[in-house]
Formats: sequence, structure tokens, C-alpha cells
Amino acid sequence: MALDPPHRIASADRIAPAGPKAAGAPRRRPASFSIGHVTGIDIRVHVTFFLIVALFAFATWSTGIVGGMVWLVIIFACIVVHELAHSLVARRRGAVVHEIVLLPIGGVSKLEHLPESPADEFAIAIVGPLASFGLAGFGALVALGLGVSLWPVDLATGSLLARLVWFNLLIGGFNLLPAFPMDGGRVLRSLLERHYDLEDATRIAARTGRAFAIGLAVVGILVDVWLVFIAVFVYFGATAEEQATIVHVRLRGVQLADVMLLDPTLIAPTMSVPELRALARRDPQRVFPVVGPGGYQGMVDATTAGVADAVGPVAAVARAVPVIAASSNLEEIAIPSVVGSSTAAVAVIDAGRVVGLLRIEDVEHLLTDISQAAAHPTRTQATPAARPTRSRQ
Ligand SMILES: [Zn+2]
Repeated sequence: MALDPPHRIASADRIAPAGPKAAGAPRRRPASFSIGHVTGIDIRVHVTFFLIVALFAFATWSTGIVGGMVWLVIIFACIVVHELAHSLVARRRGAVVHEIVLLPIGGVSKLEHLPESPADEFAIAIVGPLASFGLAGFGALVALGLGVSLWPVDLATGSLLARLVWFNLLIGGFNLLPAFPMDGGRVLRSLLERHYDLEDATRIAARTGRAFAIGLAVVGILVDVWLVFIAVFVYFGATAEEQATIVHVRLRGVQLADVMLLDPTLIAPTMSVPELRALARRDPQRVFPVVGPGGYQGMVDATTAGVADAVGPVAAVARAVPVIAASSNLEEIAIPSVVGSSTAAVAVIDAGRVVGLLRIEDVEHLLTDISQAAAHPTRTQATPAARPTRSRQ
């Protein structure tokens, strides 16, 4: 099939958890802008999308730029339909759908509380390719009715209707390949989960994806270099999915109390900043919850610039940082709170009392330990992650 690069670039998609990033990186809003809402789902276009617009304009400059742009709009409408299918089924099964972002490499559905049962994963993954096949079937019926020929396959200069049919067949088929990060990888994992736990099923599916990518790269070297690019995307996508899933699985076995600093040093709002500096020299805690008669008031970081020169009470330099409840889920609540916080630690509250401190370095150590354990799959350690916590005497 004669394909020009943009079709292939646009043919992959991902279902990305929008919840806390297991990698611990602060969540930043992607450089994208909204082009509208469908059933409350924000459809956004990433700024790099303009690269594709420019590429298309360049490629179709001589043959008809208007037709080229119309085809580009159709391509991305087809990808939106594919992503919406994922999102709507996910929502019906309990996920919170934030947005769909269109990237040059395809679409990404940002979901939270993604249901994790194999049946849910199967349904959410399979419906995207099915939607693409449905569009292809619909286009084929219209073509049949109008007497438009679908043959020969030509995604560059064929009729728009024929291109729509073949493009959707291509997207549906490509995404069904049994390799992460394609939908077919998720379908494969959900089927493997009948016999394996999530971690093992993920490892097998990721290995399958990498083996497939290597095969694809070999074919690509012989046939078409674009296949090599796709192979690289699949190879690293499989590994990224494997790592993210294993971190997620292992985080489930760790509680907030396992990671936080227990009984941290608290300071009174009336303490002077020079006293705080003296305290910070002998206490490695660095960030201190300020607790007055009425309870928690905020956090003060002894290493920030304002503290270095100030002389008044610490209340004047404390920051109003939200607290986390001791019962909070580590992955979904606690880690995002500290990662998104303006201070390097967040106070943990139980019954109105500060009982702990979750520091960014605790989270980083935990995630590093888990990632290293995930990279060396020895299943002897059931929960390798929990770092010993320091308890104050
Ligand atoms: Zn998909």
C-alpha cells in the first residue's frame, strides 16, 4: 500500500492515565488548545500538530492544498471518533475522562480512575479499533451506494471516500497489533490476565510488543524506513507501559504511613526565624509544619531565600500548603499532593493532629526503588518498595 508518512504518523493512539504520574514528575498541562467539547469531553490539539499541518501543506502544495487540508481534517476527525469510543466506554465503566489530545503521533485519551479489571480493559481497548472499522464499513457502504470505487488503494490521491475507508481500516488494524502501546497490547494483556496476574501479564505483553517491534524494524530496513520509526515507537512504548504498570502495581502495596516521616518536628508560629535557622542546622528535616494552639497553620522551608534574611516570627514566612489525611491513598492522593506542592514536604494530618510529613525525597526514593526492582524482575520480593522510615524518639 502506498502511504505517505503523515498517515502513518497519525495512526497510533494511547489511553493514558491522567491520574498521578507514577514516574513522580509534576503534571504539567500539555501545550494544547481546546477545539471543542463532545459530551463534556474536552477535545484538544497539541501545538506540535501544526508540524503536520505544515507538512501536509508542503506535500499538497502543487496538487491542491485545499484538498490536502480537507483530508487532514478527515484524518483527525477519524482519530477523534476512535478516541471518543475509548473514552465513552471507559466513562461508562467508571473512569473520569478529562480530555482527548490530538498529537502528531495520534490521539491520547486522558483518563482517571481507569477501571482495572481485565474485562474493563478489554472493552475499553477493543472499542477503538472497532469504531475505526465501523467508520470504514460505513464509508464502504456509502461508496457502494454512490458507485465510488475503493480500488486501487491510494491514500494520497484516491477519492476522499476511498481514502476514508482505507485509512480507518489501517488505523483499526494497526492498533490491533498485539503490542504495547497499541490497543492490541491491552487486549492481549486482558486476555493473559485470565492466567496471570497483572504484573506478569504486563511483562508478557510488553515482551511480545518488543519482539514484534524488532521484527517490524527488520522488515522496515528491507522494505520501508518508516516501519523502523514505528518499530522504535512500539519498542519504547512497550517498555514504558511495562514500567508504569509495575510501578503502579507495586505502589498499591505501599501505604502512606510506610513512606512518610513519622512524628516530625513541629514548630510554633511564634518561633523566630533566627531560631528556625538554628533548628534547621541540627535537624535534617528542613521543612517544618507550623502548628499553633488552633492546629496546623502552614509549612515553612528553612532553606528558602525568604527565611535566610527574615528576623520576625515564622508565621510571617510560613506557606499555606494543603495537608493530606493519614488515610489518603498513596498513589492517587498523597504523591500528587507533594509533587504538586510549593514546598518540599506536605503535612499528614490525623484527627486534627500532624502525625507525619511526606517529603518529596521520600517519594523519589520510593519510586526509584520500585523502578529499579521493576527493571530486574525477581519475583522474590513481593513489595520491594517501602523504605524504612525514621521515627522520632
Ligand atoms: Zn485506540
